[in-house]
Amino acid sequence: MDGCRQGTECSRKNTSSGQYSASRLAAAHAGHGARMFMEREMLAISLTPCRNCVECESVFAIIAWKGMEMHPVVNHLIQLQELMFIRNEEKVTSGLARLDQMDAAIKDMHDKLQPETRTRFDRLYRKDPIVIVPISNGVCAGCGLRLPISLVQAVRQEKEIHGCPSCARMLYYLEDAPRWVGTAPKRSEPRKVGIQRFSSQSLMIPRLQSETMEGIITELATKMEAEGFVDRADKLVEAALQREAILGTAVDHGLAFPHVRGVEGGGLTLALGITAKPVRFGESAEPVTRIIFFMAIPIAASAFYLKLLAGLTETFMKPENRKALMSEKDSEGLWKALCKVTRATIK
Ligand SMILES: [Zn+2]
Repeated sequence: MDGCRQGTECSRKNTSSGQYSASRLAAAHAGHGARMFMEREMLAISLTPCRNCVECESVFAIIAWKGMEMHPVVNHLIQLQELMFIRNEEKVTSGLARLDQMDAAIKDMHDKLQPETRTRFDRLYRKDPIVIVPISNGVCAGCGLRLPISLVQAVRQEKEIHGCPSCARMLYYLEDAPRWVGTAPKRSEPRKVGIQRFSSQSLMIPRLQSETMEGIITELATKMEAEGFVDRADKLVEAALQREAILGTAVDHGLAFPHVRGVEGGGLTLALGITAKPVRFGESAEPVTRIIFFMAIPIAASAFYLKLLAGLTETFMKPENRKALMSEKDSEGLWKALCKVTRATIK
């Protein structure tokens, strides 16, 4: 295991680790997305030199996910953090049935960390759930500190895991992430409140054209790009579909919350689309989904995102609030209805 840790050739042999790992994760993610998850993992095995390493086996998926090779331990940590977020998202959207499985997967990944890395992870986690963050444009995505060029280079080389001098979070280098390109509000503008802080009328689609998950996510991401909030809609779609493959975001009451975490810079952005009739979103057996919130989330807003998700879930548990959105015919009406029904739940 030690060989892998430093990114050198792994000496540990376990011929069945591929299957073992895939079935283990498939069990952990039983139901939604298990099949796709396995396929991606298999695909990723060919990308990594450490395919026989027990420590690294559960990080294959993220290597495929990021579409490039990364330090195996960095991958492991990113995926562990992501699983912890996904677990908490499940919790706030009342997906309680899947929590035990998520906890088992998290424990498994946590146990597989080297003691030294685990201690460091735990120490940071006690302060804040965001433990490992990308460097974007030379800035720590966790705290916003501009990092010395020498440190950025060292992080890029991935010989060891460096920490941010200010917030101490572990750093990794990420090229080519989708970016937030919206404009910050001018001082003269009245201060925005509630849902208006991260969405707008231009991001409302009262009648989605598409009837598939991929089509709907593409429509919403394209809207975000066209309205000047993010760049690289294609990247957003790809990342959102990969998130769906780990665990579907469709929940009860015809709601779905597809999203992308790790958008560079800026603030959280939310787009809303309504389908004319119920659609099958992800792995759900029946077409039941009608209200789809698509969100682009900077890593630093991950904790806030959970609050927003809880607020939206609370709001739309009530049938009258869902009806208020579904009866609107144009974006102006939909936007007004969304602002009105979330007034008490989203501050
Ligand atoms: Zn920092």
